[in-house]
Amino acid sequence: MTQVYNFSAGPAMIPAEVLRRAEQELCNWHGLGTSVMEISHRSKEFIQVAEESERDIRELMGIPSNYKVLFCHGGARAQFAAVPMNLLGDKATADYIDGGYWAHSAVKEAQKYCTPNVIDVTTTVNGKRGILPMNQWALNADAAYVHYCPNETIDGVAIDEEPNFGDKVVIADYSSSILSRPVDVSRFGVIYAGAQKNIGPAGLTLVIVRDDLLGKAQKALPSILDYSVLAENDSMFNTPPTFAWYLSGMVFKWLKEQGGLREMEKRNQAKAELLYGAIDHSDFYRNDVAQTNRSWMNVPFQMADASLDKLFVQEAFDAGLHALKGHRVVGGMRASIYNAMPIEGVKALTDFMADFEKRHG
Ligand code: PMP
Repeated sequence: MTQVYNFSAGPAMIPAEVLRRAEQELCNWHGLGTSVMEISHRSKEFIQVAEESERDIRELMGIPSNYKVLFCHGGARAQFAAVPMNLLGDKATADYIDGGYWAHSAVKEAQKYCTPNVIDVTTTVNGKRGILPMNQWALNADAAYVHYCPNETIDGVAIDEEPNFGDKVVIADYSSSILSRPVDVSRFGVIYAGAQKNIGPAGLTLVIVRDDLLGKAQKALPSILDYSVLAENDSMFNTPPTFAWYLSGMVFKWLKEQGGLREMEKRNQAKAELLYGAIDHSDFYRNDVAQTNRSWMNVPFQMADASLDKLFVQEAFDAGLHALKGHRVVGGMRASIYNAMPIEGVKALTDFMADFEKRHG
């Protein structure tokens, strides 16, 4: 069978070693004679999985002890509602940085709970799509917090600057770039991420929340979204997505074995440079994002002749390069190259791109 590289934006690739280990132990987990999916979340065996996964992610990300790590349901979209309902307190507004599709989706949800101060930070740099530097973001002193999305999965736009807004509470939707490089967690009030890109299977959502932000929830907030309730119950207020949690724990262990987030940063930079280099060195392909805001995780690219898109995606698929069709909002192609994508996969893609250009350019 052709070696397959899966460039899906999410659910996305999971490290092959992790899948193989899960396969080996699927039917007889830890000698119990059942799978991990079939045991109680309150059993001592599963509690060990939960505790180890929390220890590992704390170590990987350097999460300070005054932060809770919550393993939730509902994906990032549930957090679009949970954030305002947990954190507005007595404030009527929050700053929402609008830099792309997902940041904008968070605004739309927040409008149900407050009057967001929407700050359009998009700009044009040498004809390409960019983001204003953070010191030009017009934040509002009355806002309960500032929310932004450091990696726009669809647009391929990243905000890599570290936030430095004094005592302002900073909330970040890290769904598509968590664990891709080190982040100084202490700069944030809340970091959240759906698991299905760089953590593990869909169904699990990671929330990292600073202790002093707990206890402000609106009365009408469903308990299942209430950070305090989840923290008091060790993320087991109701039945958690146990299989996704277990597999994510295995991904954390894999990341530690690889050398942690510094090593991931090196690898992700090398992969991104290889792919953007191939795009920039060709007149046949282009990427419309300004250099400083190019995402290392999601790389959209276009061809001058868009009528070739379908053929590109089909031929790439036949060559084992899957899920390269761009999101309908942006069109063209998109390669998502999260932690689990080896550099060999990106090399196979750039080789294919060169060959396609030779035949159709
Ligand atoms: N935020 C970002 C940055 C995303 O990429 C996505 C999913 N593609 C979402 C939010 C929505 O995530 P979910 O489907 O887990 O609700």
